[in-house]
Amino acid sequence: MNNEMMYEQLGVSRAVYEYGEAVLRDLRPRFEEIDAVAEHNQGKVLLAMQKNRVNATHFAATTGYGYDDEGRDNLERVYADVFHTEAALVRPQITCGTHALTVALSANLLPGDELLSPVGAPYDTLEEVIGIRESKCSLKEYGVTYAQADLRPDGTFDYEAIRAKINDRTKLITIQRSKGYATRPSFSVAQIGELITFCKGVKPDVKCMVDNCYGEFVEVLEPSDLGADMVVGSLIKNPGGGLAPIGGYICGTKECVERCAYRLSAPGLGQEVGANLGLMPSFYQGLFLSPTVVSGALKGAIFAANVYEKLGFACVPGGLEDRHDIIQAVTLGSAEAMVAFCKGIQSAAPVDSYVTPEPWAMPGYDSEVIMAAGAFIQGSSIELSADGPIREPYAVYFQGGLTWYHAKLGILMSLEKLVEAGIVKL
Ligand SMILES: *Cc1c(COP(=O)(O)O)cnc(C)c1O
Repeated sequence: MNNEMMYEQLGVSRAVYEYGEAVLRDLRPRFEEIDAVAEHNQGKVLLAMQKNRVNATHFAATTGYGYDDEGRDNLERVYADVFHTEAALVRPQITCGTHALTVALSANLLPGDELLSPVGAPYDTLEEVIGIRESKCSLKEYGVTYAQADLRPDGTFDYEAIRAKINDRTKLITIQRSKGYATRPSFSVAQIGELITFCKGVKPDVKCMVDNCYGEFVEVLEPSDLGADMVVGSLIKNPGGGLAPIGGYICGTKECVERCAYRLSAPGLGQEVGANLGLMPSFYQGLFLSPTVVSGALKGAIFAANVYEKLGFACVPGGLEDRHDIIQAVTLGSAEAMVAFCKGIQSAAPVDSYVTPEPWAMPGYDSEVIMAAGAFIQGSSIELSADGPIREPYAVYFQGGLTWYHAKLGILMSLEKLVEAGIVKL
């Protein structure tokens, strides 16, 4: 049986399959570039594992306090070497990306200090962490103020505005690498490096933290290679490689990371406590697989952009643009199209493929939201997923795919559903 027949069994019509193959023919050179980055990053991870002599004893489970947890401590050395930092905190006790960012911020900001975002508004969930939206236990409640310099209309840094916002209280600068669910562009590591250099030029002792979510292993450099004092992210996104069932990381200077450990556990205890609960095999192996998994997700994002751009839908980033994260926004223009797209993604999943996604009133959103995800790890967005609020401009955000082939099937099925609904004609 050939591939076309296999796709037919999976629900992809001949017309959609052939359309996809035609789009793919032009993408081969791009895919080769992505493979080269993955190859480099695989080497980086292997070097770090070899240098730290990873062996079977590091996979042992610990419970209770977790004193002398050599597997956990060595994993942190491996992460520090991968990100070229002095230290790392990599823990299942960090519950998600927002938690990792909260630990990094609240550990390194004291009452009277100011936090500055030079890249406009931060990710939604950080609004309550910072106190932009009132919340119990926000940084604002603890006397930490917040300043923001917006991007210029073309999405570039407004250096004059940033200079004007840096004052004697500015302690920490937070830079979000991925656009997340905003419409601004994501930043390259080189751009972030330039921004860090500028900020440290204005105030040499200011600390720079990068929200690295969705950006890990997309390029051969990480922001920590270009001056970031901390890089922070979630293990159920890129660096967990789809295997980590929970967790977050903070890599950075010894000074910053030590404070994070004291904040996460307790002053005096720091990194000494925190049992690994048997998760070390998935953390090590997930990191090992991550460069390849990220390359598959990137291919999926580029394929989606090219499939939908050629059909007249606006895509961010565009089909030909460079990638700095794994997120692909596709503006579909109507609620029906969003539902059809998500149905296709869902029906291509290995888990919950028989479920039909429906828009629902998710708490905290002012419009209904639709989500498609059939993941092994609940909520994991390094696995193939798509979501978006049902409102103008009716855009879905598409990301992940543990393998390129699965991402490809998901995109073909999304197109299939749009064709079946009569929204797209091939
Ligand atoms: C996902 C994400 C977060 C928050 O991570 P959660 O794990 O959802 O809490 C923060 N910033 C960015 C840019 C993200 O993509």
